[in-house]
Amino acid sequence: SNTRYLKLRVAAIGDDRYAIFVSDMSEQRRFEAMRRDFMTNVSHELKTPAGAISLLAETIGDAADDPDAVRYFSGRIAKESTRLTELVHRLIDLQKAQDAGGVLDAKRLSVLSVVRHAIAENQVQADASHIELDLSFGGEPVPLEHAKGEPDATISCDEESITTSVKNLIENAIHYSPEHTTVRIAISAHDGKVKIRVIDQGIGIPAESIDRVFERFYRVDPARSRQTGGTGLGLAIVKHCVADCGGTVSVWSREGEGSTFTIELPLAEDVDAQAQTGEDDA
Ligand code: ADP
Repeated sequence: SNTRYLKLRVAAIGDDRYAIFVSDMSEQRRFEAMRRDFMTNVSHELKTPAGAISLLAETIGDAADDPDAVRYFSGRIAKESTRLTELVHRLIDLQKAQDAGGVLDAKRLSVLSVVRHAIAENQVQADASHIELDLSFGGEPVPLEHAKGEPDATISCDEESITTSVKNLIENAIHYSPEHTTVRIAISAHDGKVKIRVIDQGIGIPAESIDRVFERFYRVDPARSRQTGGTGLGLAIVKHCVADCGGTVSVWSREGEGSTFTIELPLAEDVDAQAQTGEDDA
């Protein structure tokens, strides 16, 4: 909102003379409100599976002599604990990305190897969902294993941040796509920029939600997402991680057609060239 919060302080600076100090506290107020909302969300998100687990554990005690019931309830307990664990891991990832604020351990990395790593981490899930993962560089198909003499591009980035980002995008693409579809990961490098696009043929995102998907805990359909095990933190992590690498992330989507998430990063060659120019100027 446009409300401004001002703090006024009056000090006597001499006989009948006063000074008024005005500080604008608006930013701080907004930051505190955001932090409060975040904590409320976190507690709620942690309490839900934790509460379910204790309830299910009690129920299992009552149903001890019915093997089918025991199997059912222990399955649900396992599912809720997985959810709790995932949530905690995601919160740690988000915290790391937010704390880093651009002072991460930037290394020169091969884009292809980062992307291949992220694909490998999703392969089991893709196979289970009968989704094909398909990689290309500059419009040409590339195998999922490293090949000699292939074209590549270099970025300067924290390895964990960028790998997590690409991994999260592929994970979502699989998660929000029907079986027997393809998720394409298309890399291109020109004009000093590297683009990593993750293109799915999934359910898509409604136009009214598209601006909000990078917000922490935002989900298009909370009921469905909870059922399928989402946390609403994946894209918030991507946004922070990519920003720490000096890049941006954007989305195109149409409901029923699919979504494309694009990570854009400066080419490392270009980063060097800029550093060079900087020296010349000095
Ligand atoms: P979640 O853990 O719920 O997937 P994210 O932060 O990763 O959380 O994504 C936020 C929301 O954006 C999701 O709940 C989903 O509604 C929507 N979303 C993200 N990626 C996709 C995609 N590839 N296709 C359709 N919807 C998506």
